[in-house]
Amino acid sequence: MDKKMRVFATCDIGDAIELLRSRGYEVEVYPQPEAPAKSLIVEKVKSGIDGLITTLRDPIDEEVFEAGKGSLKVVAQYAVGFDNINRADADRYKVPFTNTADVLTEATAEFAFFMMGTLARKMWPAEQLTRELKWGYWHPYLPFLGDEVTGKTVAVIGTGRIGLAFIKKCVGFDMNVLCYDPAYENHEFVKTIQEINDLRHARGLTKEKAWIQYGPLETALQGADFVSVHVPLLRAGESATPTYHLFSEKNLRLMKTTAYLVNTSRGPVVDEAALARALRENWIAGAALDVYEKEPLPADSPLRDAAIADRCRLMPHFASAARITRLSTDPDKGMAGRCVQGLMDVLEGNYGGDVTKMPYVVNKEAFGE
Ligand code: NAD
Repeated sequence: MDKKMRVFATCDIGDAIELLRSRGYEVEVYPQPEAPAKSLIVEKVKSGIDGLITTLRDPIDEEVFEAGKGSLKVVAQYAVGFDNINRADADRYKVPFTNTADVLTEATAEFAFFMMGTLARKMWPAEQLTRELKWGYWHPYLPFLGDEVTGKTVAVIGTGRIGLAFIKKCVGFDMNVLCYDPAYENHEFVKTIQEINDLRHARGLTKEKAWIQYGPLETALQGADFVSVHVPLLRAGESATPTYHLFSEKNLRLMKTTAYLVNTSRGPVVDEAALARALRENWIAGAALDVYEKEPLPADSPLRDAAIADRCRLMPHFASAARITRLSTDPDKGMAGRCVQGLMDVLEGNYGGDVTKMPYVVNKEAFGE
């Protein structure tokens, strides 16, 4: 690099910061674990930094891009979801932004799968019994029972990277799968899964032959024992099929009263007020959430109601929070590695400086693709 590139990171992302420094970058890291105020991000951008490393907690919009006019060359987002970045504004200011797709796919999918099992088999209330010395006897059905996952039907809403990885986990549990995705139907993948189901049945590994199919949202919600959500947050105007409040009262009421909802996508995809009522009034059997309309989950959230605690699991936006996934500096393994690689691609002019050829840039449309 001819000139020393300046980068501001809104949070520490581990050894990948040292990797940048060892390549000659001047990197300032916001030292607190909480998100910095937006005014601080704007101030840093205004000071002339070349690259900004962000997370899903940082609102990046016109105000930030305006502050960086003529100097800010890239925003490198440490996450696959980028609903905190105003894409139209990035495009207008012609600032490429990158994300960390793929490297968190399996970690997020397995966490969603574990949440489903934890919820259905009541592992949290069961452990509470043990810890609180309320485990008085072994009994066929007291004080409560859970529901099996094996052999059940799961609806997968959104069959992108994480949705498909989640389906792979379900195969081992002999599950039937109802897929719904208005924008992307991967029939080749579905065919492969069906072949594996057929083989497992033919070789005597399963009694029933499991099946998988695409269908409309209503069919998926009405037919499923479990619903797992893997969509991006898309607000009205951002997509022909927005996902904001996709899980409204109307759609929650389509689910079986015995069904469970698992959401590891983004909080605003679920109308939390409607979900809290669904749980209190038993429209559905339970929900496990990793993401919320407001994060961290406020103290007065109706989801914290003790009356629904046995059927409502609450995780702290934790689905990708595994060591290698979060911190590996290898861009093929870790979010940190992929984040800084995306940043370096732009700032070091890799791929002949052609942004449309850079694999981690999201908004290629602003650069002629
Ligand atoms: P992806 O883009 O590969 O897949 C998303 C899929 O959703 C696409 O196939 C898209 O067509 C589909 N979709 C769009 N609108 C839809 C709608 N209205 N109904 C149904 N499907 C719709 O993204 P991905 O890598 O699989 O990640 C999915 C999302 O998961 C991310 O955008 C992010 O918000 C979230 N996520 C959360 C965590 C976490 O820590 N909880 C971790 C990783 C990702």
